[in-house]
Amino acid sequence: MTEPWTQIPHVAVVGGGLAGLAAGSALADSGFRVTLFERRAYLGGRASSYQHPATGEVVDNCQHVLLGCCTNLIEFYRRVGVEDKIRWYDRLTFLEPGGRASVIGPSSLPAPLHTAPAFLRARCLSLTDKLSIAAAMAALAPAMPRDTGESFLKWLHRHGQTDRAIGRFWKPVLVSALNEDIDRVSVPYAAQVMRESFLKSAEAGLMGVPTVPLTELYGTAGDHICSRGGEVRFRSSVESFRAEFAAVKLAVSGREASFDFVVLAVPFDVLARLLPQTTAAEPLRQALDGFETSPITGIHLWFDRQITGLEHAVLLDRTIQWMFHKSMLLDSRAPRNGSYMELVVSSSKLLVEKSRQEIVDLALNELREFLPEAHQAKLVKSAVIKEIHATYSPKPGVDVFRPQPETVWPRVFLAGDWTATGWPATMEGAVRSGYLAAQCVARVAGLQDAAFLVPDLPPTGFMRLFG
Ligand SMILES: Cc1cc2nc3c(=O)[nH]c(=O)nc-3n(C[C@H](O)[C@H](O)[C@H](O)COP(=O)(O)OP(=O)(O)OC[C@H]3O[C@@H](n4cnc5c(N)ncnc54)[C@H](O)[C@@H]3O)c2cc1C
Repeated sequence: MTEPWTQIPHVAVVGGGLAGLAAGSALADSGFRVTLFERRAYLGGRASSYQHPATGEVVDNCQHVLLGCCTNLIEFYRRVGVEDKIRWYDRLTFLEPGGRASVIGPSSLPAPLHTAPAFLRARCLSLTDKLSIAAAMAALAPAMPRDTGESFLKWLHRHGQTDRAIGRFWKPVLVSALNEDIDRVSVPYAAQVMRESFLKSAEAGLMGVPTVPLTELYGTAGDHICSRGGEVRFRSSVESFRAEFAAVKLAVSGREASFDFVVLAVPFDVLARLLPQTTAAEPLRQALDGFETSPITGIHLWFDRQITGLEHAVLLDRTIQWMFHKSMLLDSRAPRNGSYMELVVSSSKLLVEKSRQEIVDLALNELREFLPEAHQAKLVKSAVIKEIHATYSPKPGVDVFRPQPETVWPRVFLAGDWTATGWPATMEGAVRSGYLAAQCVARVAGLQDAAFLVPDLPPTGFMRLFG
């Protein structure tokens, strides 16, 4: 890209979550002067870590995982130099209460048959369950279904799924990937998760887990912006913006600053408060009213001894859905004689009203059903982190509310996992939105060939027949 400017354009990025960090890093790499404003004292937004006041431990606000199909997130890791901080796994362990394990992983068969042998061996499903899953997968393989307003649960019933196939396969995978109950999830979002995780290729379905706390992972993006002449301003809350013909004015912590372009990479409810009280802002304000959110709860438990050799597992038939053995996953130098476990409950609406102690008791009792060794172990400390508005709900029809990065103000652009990326609320969706917004800024600023978004992984094997 050649820069056509006599003066370097100054871009404000509002929000230091993944969307803002991706936009800021791409623009800084393209020669823009970037100032990033973040309300908090650290970066990462909804994917961050901090010292938990009651336990003194550094904890992630919640375990975050990615898949091999997250091409833009992986490119972002490369851009800021942290791709070696992700450990990849090619198999998932599904644990039943009592501890029986079924392992799903790829074989040498071509996609979409690569996981079929593991499915056939899985003991948590009967042959009838497996045949019903195979039939539904065959219906999802050829093309992405359209959003007709139907929920994915209805779609599953229409496609003859057994109760156990729904409870032990579709639900655990989709509720954790989309953070919503399957009777509230749109068919295309569910189909996308299944196609990428199980059908398209073995590479697309790999699961990546960060080996360092999230703020350590994403703080590097701030350093990346600063090393290219930019600036990150912490504890700086943007209160409003005013779009003029040749500039955008931001009110930041009681002072006004002027920029050539602004990328607003804040959650949708924050954006609703930043919008000017003008008729031009009305359509966007109304669209933002259409979103609903869903909670996630993370339960952190520290035991006095190792309670399992498993690094992670999907937990079936109970409230807790995933187990991450953090003391084995993190590359920390902390002694490994105890187990630090994080249990995750997505779409945790039933836990929102429960007390910390009730949630710890429930999680501990359930964990002991899966890992009998935990009966002998002493719980040393615990923490519960409820993210009440964790992500927007990918309900049927939600796409009509998701805005494009361009706004009615030619110098103001939007980013965030809730904007129109085609992806659900994920780190990949957030990075895509940041790259899309950065692409728009660069093109308006005269870099006509600016392109930050990277392509999806190609389908492999027989999936190539479907394009
Ligand atoms: C509990 C939980 C678990 C999740 N698990 C996963 C997972 O396993 N895999 C996955 O891919 N995704 C997961 N996600 C989703 C993922 O975290 C989000 O999709 C992504 O981080 C959103 O990034 P964002 O930049 O769009 O928004 P945010 O991260 O919300 O960033 C917005 C930023 O703007 C800042 N801000 C707000 N107001 C202002 C203001 N006025 N001025 C300046 N700054 C402001 C905020 O402090 C924040 O840093 C999870 C989310 C949660 C909450």
